[in-house]
Amino acid sequence: MSAFIGIDVGATSISGGIVTRQGEALAVEQRATHGRGKGTAVETLLELVDAMVREARAGEMHVVGVGVGLAGVVDVRNGAMMKFPGNHVREFGGVPLASIITKATGLPAFIDNDANALALAEHMFGAARGASSAVLLAVGAEIGGAIIAGNTLLRGHSGFGGELGHVPIDFRGRRCICEGYGCAGTYLGGRVMAQAARRRAVRMRSKLVAMAGGDPRAITSELVFEAARLDDPLAKSIVEQACEALGALLAVIVKGINPEVVVVTGGVAASLAPLRDDILRRAGRYAPALGQTRLEIVSGDKSRTVRGGAALVLYELGRTMPQPQKEPMMPKYVIEREIPGVGSWPQEKLQAASRKSNEILRKLGPDIQWVESYVTTDRLFCVYIAPSEDLIRTHGAKGGFPVTRIARIAGKIDPSTAEKS
Ligand SMILES: [Zn+2]
Repeated sequence: MSAFIGIDVGATSISGGIVTRQGEALAVEQRATHGRGKGTAVETLLELVDAMVREARAGEMHVVGVGVGLAGVVDVRNGAMMKFPGNHVREFGGVPLASIITKATGLPAFIDNDANALALAEHMFGAARGASSAVLLAVGAEIGGAIIAGNTLLRGHSGFGGELGHVPIDFRGRRCICEGYGCAGTYLGGRVMAQAARRRAVRMRSKLVAMAGGDPRAITSELVFEAARLDDPLAKSIVEQACEALGALLAVIVKGINPEVVVVTGGVAASLAPLRDDILRRAGRYAPALGQTRLEIVSGDKSRTVRGGAALVLYELGRTMPQPQKEPMMPKYVIEREIPGVGSWPQEKLQAASRKSNEILRKLGPDIQWVESYVTTDRLFCVYIAPSEDLIRTHGAKGGFPVTRIARIAGKIDPSTAEKS
């Protein structure tokens, strides 16, 4: 059986999985990103890849390749994450990870932004399967985004494509980690929501302090959603702003792309799922018709995220391998029929003959098709598409206009042929 190693690198943990061609995660393993100390994430990742490859081979699987999703902008051509100050796992910046993995394992390896990998997985195996276009929002600590249009991942001119969490939705908004202002990600996402709650919980006598065991620093975004359900005013205002930001972001997506489906996933997705109607209502205020775009909120559990790397391998190998040959074109024929005086037949007589011909064609089935005919003084030249000459002769005999000559068409020349450079 063929298997793919999918790796998802997060700020706190690196997950690896053995994934089948159908997107089933057979085994999932996790390591603390910095379990071996600061700056050691690359080594931890390589250990995990090695362990997964061994495990797959021990199970007599044929490992096809390794795919890695990284939280950052990735230079896909060079197989390296770009260096940016806001990166959560900085040691990957500038490291030619794909070639390092290939050298270590002998396997083809591909790396991409984590949301891009997730989008490919949802498109191949999950909630966006079969959709002609799809947008993915991975709402975790931060917001990742990805766009698939016409079965192609839109990475953009320099890899920034799909960074939808950094779409500005507020003129007077706060500074964002991307160094822009008022991004959707300054209201929505585990990190900003927890931070906003920690800053204000004591002053606002929020339930959150008690819920976090008395320590405001222990407040998480899950607790914020939970407190909002319990009517805590601070938590409610943070959750409402997050839903408003997501609503605005969905409107941007619908108006800019109008995809068939938007998939919201990631660590915060489970908390957002019960708020779906509220989010759609808010989105509808900005984009009233919502363009018939479907919203799917799916959990961001690890067996789902490791499929991203596997989908990336399938996607990239599919692009680099020669495409399977298309079905050979059905041959076209020119048929000459000798019909004395046909050039002076009245219109009704020609029509009656064509109708009869069409009836016979219908009886013969879809293999044989009439393309066009030309009438001269005493000849009729017809163009047919058919698998062989036999069917054409049968048609001619049944229709009462036997074939004088048949020639298979080898090419076409017309005035545009002469002009082509
Ligand atoms: Zn931003």
